[in-house]
Amino acid sequence: MKVVAKTHCGKVRPINEDSFLVPENGGRVALVADGMGGHQAGEVASAMAANAIGQSAKKAAGREISVKTVVSWVRQANKAIYKAAGEDLSRSGMGTTLTFLYFMRGHAMLAHVGDSRCYLIRKGEIYQLTKDHSLVAELVRRGEITPEQAKTHPYRNIITRALGTDDSVAVDAQDLDLEPGDIFLLCSDGLSNYLDKEELLSLVMEKPAEEICEELVGRALERGGRDNITVVVVYTDGEVVT
Ligand code: CA
Repeated sequence: MKVVAKTHCGKVRPINEDSFLVPENGGRVALVADGMGGHQAGEVASAMAANAIGQSAKKAAGREISVKTVVSWVRQANKAIYKAAGEDLSRSGMGTTLTFLYFMRGHAMLAHVGDSRCYLIRKGEIYQLTKDHSLVAELVRRGEITPEQAKTHPYRNIITRALGTDDSVAVDAQDLDLEPGDIFLLCSDGLSNYLDKEELLSLVMEKPAEEICEELVGRALERGGRDNITVVVVYTDGEVVT
């Protein structure tokens, strides 16, 4: 397995509130979290989510776990962030998206809240595995606006689910069977707002792993870079992961 990642503050935001984890040194988690909330609270929320999931995964190392288990990790992380937000006025209302994969032999668990994304590239096709929990995605699903209109909609930043903003959270989770050569791309909306999935696919197919993150982030910056940009790419390389 090979993994590459990059995060960038972008051109407009004063700080980078995204966090990420990569599965290295025996770790099994690839994660992107996109924090929100004033006074750097977004940065705190996304880092708390990443740390909490990293810790839960560490404790589970070597065990086969179920979808239910990864959902319980997300609920625990949610409670911790919600509690921290309630204890400190400057962190009130902080929250974060959370999208992660937990790799096991031959399969991976995917858990997701918010509008960060996980794509799978398999046999020359790209699939968006996560459904955005955002207002514009809801409007598109209901047929009220077109995907084209969603791209420039004034409310495109509003997410309908987040970690830390309520004492409970609805979590999307699935168990995926891996196939040799599967590539996963996780990203925050600072990337997916600028590059559609066809462009992501052609770049991942065309660029070597060493250059892909630079290329993707570079394009998002060229097109405005109005948000923090984070990408994690996992090449399962046919080994189908230990
Ligand atoms: Ca963002």
